[in-house]
Amino acid sequence: MQIKLRFLGAAQNVTGSSHLVEANGSMILVDCGLYQERQLKARNWEAFGVPPEKVNAVLLTHAHLDHCGLLPKLVRDGFKGKIYCTAATAEIAQIILLDSAKIQEEDAEFKRKRHEREGRKGPYPEVPLYTTADAEACFPLFVPVNYKQPVEIAEGIEASFCDAGHVLGSSIIKVKIRQDEQQRTILFSGDVGRPHRPILRDPVLVDEADYILVESTYGDRVHQGPEDTKKMIAEVINSTKKAGGNIIVPSFALERSQEVMYYINELLLEDAIPHLKVFLDSPMAASITKVFQKHRELYDEEMTELMRHNESPFDFPGLKMVGTSDESKAINHIKGTVMVIAGSGMCTGGRVKHHLVNNISGPQNTIMFVGYQAIGTLGRRIVDGEKEVRILGQEYPVKARVARINGFSAHADKEELFEWLSGLKKPPKKLFVVHGEPESAHHFGDYISQKTGWQVVVPAYRDEVILD
Ligand SMILES: [Zn+2]
Repeated sequence: MQIKLRFLGAAQNVTGSSHLVEANGSMILVDCGLYQERQLKARNWEAFGVPPEKVNAVLLTHAHLDHCGLLPKLVRDGFKGKIYCTAATAEIAQIILLDSAKIQEEDAEFKRKRHEREGRKGPYPEVPLYTTADAEACFPLFVPVNYKQPVEIAEGIEASFCDAGHVLGSSIIKVKIRQDEQQRTILFSGDVGRPHRPILRDPVLVDEADYILVESTYGDRVHQGPEDTKKMIAEVINSTKKAGGNIIVPSFALERSQEVMYYINELLLEDAIPHLKVFLDSPMAASITKVFQKHRELYDEEMTELMRHNESPFDFPGLKMVGTSDESKAINHIKGTVMVIAGSGMCTGGRVKHHLVNNISGPQNTIMFVGYQAIGTLGRRIVDGEKEVRILGQEYPVKARVARINGFSAHADKEELFEWLSGLKKPPKKLFVVHGEPESAHHFGDYISQKTGWQVVVPAYRDEVILD
């Protein structure tokens, strides 16, 4: 057998996922993600590890930017093959790539103006990393695939997708390579979700693979249970309502916003919270929610049951999807408690900023965080308890209650990843630990090799291995 595997991203770091399989004279790229860590962003501007025109196909695990965000650049630089993924992933990726292109264009314009004013040049070109037109050029290349239906990608190379339970449409991908009489399988975990999450089915256990690439975002942590999450949300809503305040929820557009709506719907059905007006104030989250509503075939049993009883979490009494920015501003004039779910998730941009301006200094209000807040973001400063924060160019005292709801993670923790790997009936030839900070990846690698005796490798950026 002659298979080469190259680690072109998310090797000892979390973003920029990209792995290349070379076999049978073909090159298959699994994911083509954007780097989002501040210290690694320069890599987005580097040439790809391989000439894009030589790549035959892309297999896309899911629509998060750190997995699909460099596709527009790949296509602009010469890739002409197909991009295989589930239909839901293709639809969400299109929404996310258009938004990303807009941000790239705005960033370039902002930098150009600033440098002009200051009479200097920055370290990177003042052109967008890619444009809206570059993003749109990817759309015709998407080929939707169904779960559990193997597709022939290139000569002697077949891929099958199955539920990863991470975000809607997300996949674990198994690549089967035939050479002469022999055959090898490489399993790409993508991002592994957690069992018993709202809306989505659990990650599928795979019973056999020769080589495995497993993510390790939380390879050194154990999460809190789901019950606490719902109880904590109920407590925030009930006490804020009693105080006569509003609840502002900075949230990511994909999965997190829909999960928050899911829990509120459940709490309403259980009569655990009073009726209140809930606004989903993010055009991107609203578009993505439409994809959720369309793809009922991806729901788990509980969600299917809710839909059967006309109790959809995307359409409960009191819920409103906000359209224009005037409608968004009008929310400020509503009397009585309202809940606003708005982007961005770390308060770095989007409509959540003007809701924070209007609510952060009122002690009756609550800012409810449901996601990770990276260092250096406005969200992190608020969570860290700063007494005063700068929003849209002005200082505001933080008087509102700041609540952190845990247990929302879309990534399996150390134990859940081990559980997932335990589906294998026989040991793989090798396990590669990717998509994790160095400590997390090494910790998880050691943990697995101690528990199973498997051969474990934590590859570095641009490492290459020959698989036999
Ligand atoms: Zn992801």
